[in-house]
Amino acid sequence: PYSEASTAFTLTPIGRIASDYPDKFGIPRQPGLASAARATLTLAPPFDDPLTVRGLDAFSHLWLTFVFHQSPTRWTPLVRPPRLGGNAKHGVFATRSTHRPNRLGLSLVELVKIETHHGVTLHLRGHDLVDGTPVLDIKPYLAWAEALPEARSGFAPAPPPSLPVTFSAAAETALLARDDSDSLRNLIRQVLAQDPRPAYHKNARNTSERRYGVRLRDVDVRFHPSASNGIDAMHVEDIV
Ligand code: SAM
Repeated sequence: PYSEASTAFTLTPIGRIASDYPDKFGIPRQPGLASAARATLTLAPPFDDPLTVRGLDAFSHLWLTFVFHQSPTRWTPLVRPPRLGGNAKHGVFATRSTHRPNRLGLSLVELVKIETHHGVTLHLRGHDLVDGTPVLDIKPYLAWAEALPEARSGFAPAPPPSLPVTFSAAAETALLARDDSDSLRNLIRQVLAQDPRPAYHKNARNTSERRYGVRLRDVDVRFHPSASNGIDAMHVEDIV
């Protein structure tokens, strides 16, 4: 069986993510969907020598390889992509599922700043990683080689639909009291626009009566679906 393969590799994380996403719930399914999401990647010894990142600040975007450490190690050959409403099965290697052999993840993120005063900390934006994610490697992104907008993209040919997001007066007041109000407002908008509710809730009747909460950065965002003029939307009730 697979687990008895004779050639195994031992990988050591080079660092860990501290993220705007304390929990998996709400995290968009790809990094580019929430450009406002912040994270830091702090390198661990012996990788935290500033020499390891010399020249990296000349790149605006990075590839991170990481471990889906919160996913089970068990995997199956077929998975149900949430994008297809959980109804259709595709081969695990035909998806970006987190339930996969080796639990290896790959995300393209924006590099905002590098700090090298005490060890090495990279400031990142536009990611899809839960707090504590162990990172295995960093590589600079080469747009001329790797950006292929005309490539065929299987069951996900375009970005997922994005819902309008509205804020109550109380939510706006809470936002305006903060130093990061614009960034947090954008993050909430980008996360809720993806409709983080489980598929079986989206299809249920009377969904607008149900209340939901998502933890982002250091706040609880309370929201519910709302439909105005027949258009689905998300309404932020409060931010505490
Ligand atoms: N861009 C990556 C890739 O393609 O390998 C991740 C795609 S995966 C579909 C994105 C989801 O992974 C997020 O919505 C989040 O719920 C989940 N996730 C993020 N970090 C994780 C971790 N450390 N362990 C398990 N799941 C994680």
